[in-house]
Amino acid sequence: MRTYADTKRILVTGGAGFLGSHLCERLIGEGHEVICVDNFFTGQRRNIAHLLQHPNFELLRHDVTFPLFVEVDEIYNLACPASPVHYQHDPVQTTKTSVHGAINMLGLAKRVGAKILQASTSEVYGDPDIHPQTEEYWGRVNPIGIRSCYDEGKRCAETLFFDYHRQHGLRIKVARIFNTYGPRMHPADGRVVSNFIVQALRGEPITLYGTGEQTRSFCYVDDLIDGLVRLMNSGDEVTGPVNIGNPGEFSMRELAELVRQKVGGTSEFVFEPLPSDDPRQRRPDISKALEYLGWKPGVALDQGLDATIDYFRTIV
Ligand code: NAD
Ligand code: UDP
Ligand code: UDP
Repeated sequence: MRTYADTKRILVTGGAGFLGSHLCERLIGEGHEVICVDNFFTGQRRNIAHLLQHPNFELLRHDVTFPLFVEVDEIYNLACPASPVHYQHDPVQTTKTSVHGAINMLGLAKRVGAKILQASTSEVYGDPDIHPQTEEYWGRVNPIGIRSCYDEGKRCAETLFFDYHRQHGLRIKVARIFNTYGPRMHPADGRVVSNFIVQALRGEPITLYGTGEQTRSFCYVDDLIDGLVRLMNSGDEVTGPVNIGNPGEFSMRELAELVRQKVGGTSEFVFEPLPSDDPRQRRPDISKALEYLGWKPGVALDQGLDATIDYFRTIV
């Protein structure tokens, strides 16, 4: 049981989304008070339905592009659509969410003296020439393409975090999250893991974009959340950016084979055009996470996919 003195008041923006809901659950489980802020653009009430009656949990419907006045000790800033289908739906709003949202949350952190963590992304590396990606790599990002609203919005948010740190002495943490999957991914958000599982479960064709040879490295959600919490709890000298992801690298074709084999269906593979600026390869170098946070992932894709497929069986 926590005492008054060691119970933290924690704000999670984007708390009704895929990652945010797991984070709220973890923090409530640790005995903290959680304020979940979400505008429900991609988040769902069902993700947090089991927390709504908890005395330490509070839900606010709010858009982070507008100012927010609450009193908290820590802020996890996750609000932002993450799947290409959703962040490209209203690209101007995506950039506003990343940039105005960061400014408002940093202004809030400054006013109340809170520690603040930014959910940044491997997309800051763009279509990378360096492989695996280390935090020192500045990236290869198209500033005017269809992914730019997300990639450049997140890059600008990182800039704001480091300028509030240098200019105002804020305690900041920047996590560069690599592709993460698990229960509560939205079945229609178009990300590859959810798409393949839903297609296989329905016996529909599995859609491979391009040749299917492009690679991603997939991290199970429980591992990712543990990395974020460790980063928040690290000493003030650890600002990041820190890569958090699973270095196990797979081509989309390998992923499709694995999902089809696990689901046991007869879905055929169909090839569709590769969206523009789709990164060819992606794998995190996680030496910094290990060195500074003592963190490395523990759930292999094989295992994590089983849990994820079990979840999707209950909803599709
Ligand atoms: P998600 O779409 O499930 O969650 C995002 C949440 O933010 C949703 O609940 C959505 O309603 C909310 N939101 C969006 N715009 C908002 C606004 N203006 N005001 C308030 N709430 C808003 O996505 P996710 O996978 O849970 O991603 C969470 C965060 O992690 C995002 O910032 C994303 O960029 C980052 N991230 C995720 C991944 C991944 O693989 N899942 C990888 C890299 C970075
Ligand atoms: N802000 C907020 N909540 C707060 C404090 C500030 O949403 O508790 C917003 C505020 O509206 C401002 C932004 O954060 O637009 C940046 O605040 P900062 O103090 O850095 O800048 P300034 O108010 O001087 O523009
Ligand atoms: N992808 C695919 N089929 C799909 C959805 C995605 O082949 O039905 C590919 C996509 O082109 C990309 C990779 O899978 O190369 C990962 O896509 P996702 O949208 O999940 O994440 P991101 O591209 O943002 O890493």
